[in-house]
Amino acid sequence: MDAYGDTFQVAPERGACACPTHLTESLLATKVPFSTWFLDEEEPEDPVTVGDLIEMEAFEVRALTPDQPEDHPDLARGFQFEAWAGDEVSCHYDDDARLAFDAAVGRQPGIGAVDWEDREVLYITAPTMCEEGVMTAMAGALLDRRVRTRRLWGWLRRLSSRDD
Ligand SMILES: [Zn+2]
Repeated sequence: MDAYGDTFQVAPERGACACPTHLTESLLATKVPFSTWFLDEEEPEDPVTVGDLIEMEAFEVRALTPDQPEDHPDLARGFQFEAWAGDEVSCHYDDDARLAFDAAVGRQPGIGAVDWEDREVLYITAPTMCEEGVMTAMAGALLDRRVRTRRLWGWLRRLSSRDD
């Protein structure tokens, strides 16, 4: 461990964490509603559950570690996790929703700052949580109905664009 090692705050392992919740059977089986933009473009055949998103690796969470020099800049910025929310996740939130997806993640218990680097990568401050707890928080954010535009607005938008 180099000189940084003592100063970085790293995430605890599962068991030493203070996560409000972890992944439960019922959370994994919970269906995630599709976003308005997605439903405007496609008719999904099957519902998607939280467990499906994790299984298809659309959701991933990795604790940053001082062992990896490339993690040092983000640890130095006060983050403990790098999270991945892939394309399949973006089918479940709208960019013009009342609550942005990254803001919804930031509102979950135990989560501090969230830096949404690009469409898929989020850096997260959660010094008392383990990887699974942060994964649970990301799922909780996606299940917050405010991350989706109400379909009524989607319909109105479509109607008005037809008039153009
Ligand atoms: Zn935990």
